[in-house]
Amino acid sequence: MPDGSANTKPHALPGASDRAPPAAPARTLRDPAALVRAGLVPADAASGLERLAETYAIAVPPAVQALIDRADPADPIARQYIPDVAELDTAPQERSDPTSDAPFTPVRGVVHRYPDRALLKPLLACPVYCRFCFRREVVGPDGGLLSEAELEAALDWFAATPEVREAILTGGDPLMLSPRRLGHIIRRLSAIPHLDIIRLHSRVPVAAPERITPDLLAALETEKALFLCVHANHAREFAGPARAALRALAGAGVALLGQSVLLRGVNNSPEALGELFRAMLAARVKPYYLHQLDRAPGTARFEVPISEGRAILRALRGRLTGLAWPTYVLDLPGGAGKAPLGPDFAVADGADWLVEGPLDGVPQRHAAPPG
Ligand code: SF4
Repeated sequence: MPDGSANTKPHALPGASDRAPPAAPARTLRDPAALVRAGLVPADAASGLERLAETYAIAVPPAVQALIDRADPADPIARQYIPDVAELDTAPQERSDPTSDAPFTPVRGVVHRYPDRALLKPLLACPVYCRFCFRREVVGPDGGLLSEAELEAALDWFAATPEVREAILTGGDPLMLSPRRLGHIIRRLSAIPHLDIIRLHSRVPVAAPERITPDLLAALETEKALFLCVHANHAREFAGPARAALRALAGAGVALLGQSVLLRGVNNSPEALGELFRAMLAARVKPYYLHQLDRAPGTARFEVPISEGRAILRALRGRLTGLAWPTYVLDLPGGAGKAPLGPDFAVADGADWLVEGPLDGVPQRHAAPPG
């Protein structure tokens, strides 16, 4: 896909109109030849993409195929998922394992970076493979499923680590597990007294909503607080099937949060980002994090400078309900943690503060309390 600025072309949300959506194709596309046959890449791109496929996984499931506008060469859905030979070029600033999971892995499948929470990665398969993924060198359809013994060791680690209050299931995508295996994990975590929260991070509700079945909802039943953090980057990802899946999850008592990545050519404008957050909220999903791109190999075409990200968010302040406001964060390299990136509306002036009005941009003095 060509590089470019944000796609702000207005699109009706699929499923929001009275027209019946087109029938979704039936199969996940997993190699360049299949992408060519589906008209998603030109035939002369296939040989370059064959080399790419030796390193990075490809998957474009039916629900995502149905969202792609083939007539738009800068389609923001295609840009997220259709491979590009530019991924074979590693920029000097890019690095493997940009969030440094490896040094914080006490047992296979667990990442313990912060005192009160830890990741559990039961598998590394996903419903789609995002071209900007920070774990792109390890995720794939046949990698990373913990063996029974490894999974039990990881669950035992949670039971033996009382300072950890929150278990975060990620991967890969934990909703790619069978309901039976997912239910086992949720039950084991639910039986650990010091865990208050179980959180899952997933693309499934938007990329493979057909997986949200009654069996899967039953697997998520727990007396713990259970949050599902849905990853989506464009308003059109909240099509009718995705909204129905999210409604079913909400009906099952799952609290829904949203996480997004700021991506050039996908959502790097106030209009695109504002529509994304509004679409999330309309689907019962509270925007939680907006991530600055992690500099994984071959992802440079997606990077938006922090200065541009701050300006986009500043333009939205006051125009968008506060419910829609996520925290814009950078995961610092070396495992140093997530740092909020602003924008700031207050600057210190001695003991006073100058606070900028979000609507008029005019700073007002907020004097320090007397004494
Ligand atoms: S779903 Fe998440 S882990 Fe999987 S490829 Fe996309 S960003 Fe990476």
